[in-house]
Amino acid sequence: MSGRLQDRVALITGAGSGIGRETSLLFAAEGARVLAVDLNREAVEETVEKVRAAGGEATAHLADVSATEQSEAMVTAAETAYGRLDVMFNNAGIMHSDDDDAVSTDLEVWDLTMDVNAKGVFLGCKYGIPALRRAGGGSIINTASFVALLGAATPQVAYTASKGAVLAMTRELAVVHARENIRVNALCPGPLRTELLMKFLDTDEKKERRLVHIPMGRFGEAAEMAKAALWLASDESSYVTGTEFVVDGGITAAYVTPE
Ligand code: NAD
Repeated sequence: MSGRLQDRVALITGAGSGIGRETSLLFAAEGARVLAVDLNREAVEETVEKVRAAGGEATAHLADVSATEQSEAMVTAAETAYGRLDVMFNNAGIMHSDDDDAVSTDLEVWDLTMDVNAKGVFLGCKYGIPALRRAGGGSIINTASFVALLGAATPQVAYTASKGAVLAMTRELAVVHARENIRVNALCPGPLRTELLMKFLDTDEKKERRLVHIPMGRFGEAAEMAKAALWLASDESSYVTGTEFVVDGGITAAYVTPE
């Protein structure tokens, strides 16, 4: 049987957990060969074990996406392992627990967040685009967030700014590379029941404060983001570029949420 990403090569960052892990599993199940990248060795090796246990093909690669040489090396590793690169999923991101409003957020928190979330995506594109060109084109997916579109109820100024940068960068890259058969889209997840957010919303009160704004009344699942990423990665989205693909349980559509 031929999968929706049969024989494609995908590089997925943040593959040790949450969206990145679920996407690695789904892409591999759809026939892709996956270079699974994370800075957490144990976590990314576990992802690869899960992919292989399900009969898929993946290789673990350690890299910090905010480090120039390491970003370049991860793209080289994908081409070395699998001969080409077709899909670049710049998904790794952090939400610092001390990220707050502009007055309270330390410069170190701002710098670290921008380094991973914005510079990391830039570097992924900087080194990924030449590899996609060598393959004759491809799809880039950059993980942003619904907070780049709406003000968040819980302040997290560095995170929000970093995701705004991802959206703006995605739009420009989509336009600049459109005639090279390279599509560039942003994935804007709503709040998910992943480690990243649950660590940040560490009290019932904080969780409730978020749930109040979600028409569907629940957090999203990483596996639901993986399905959206699959569509953006595959040829099914062949005329889609430069979009903010929102997968948020209805948050951005709502003024007042239903009872
Ligand atoms: P997660 O914390 O479950 O997984 C993130 C992974 O990225 C971890 O394995 C971590 O080790 C890795 N990582 C962190 N910094 C890295 C770096 N510098 N280099 C390489 N790997 C690094 O998070 P998640 O919820 O799956 O989030 C994935 C993406 O989705 C992030 O960009 C996040 O901002 C975004 N997002 C998440 C939510 C949510 O509610 N969880 C909502 C909107 C957007």
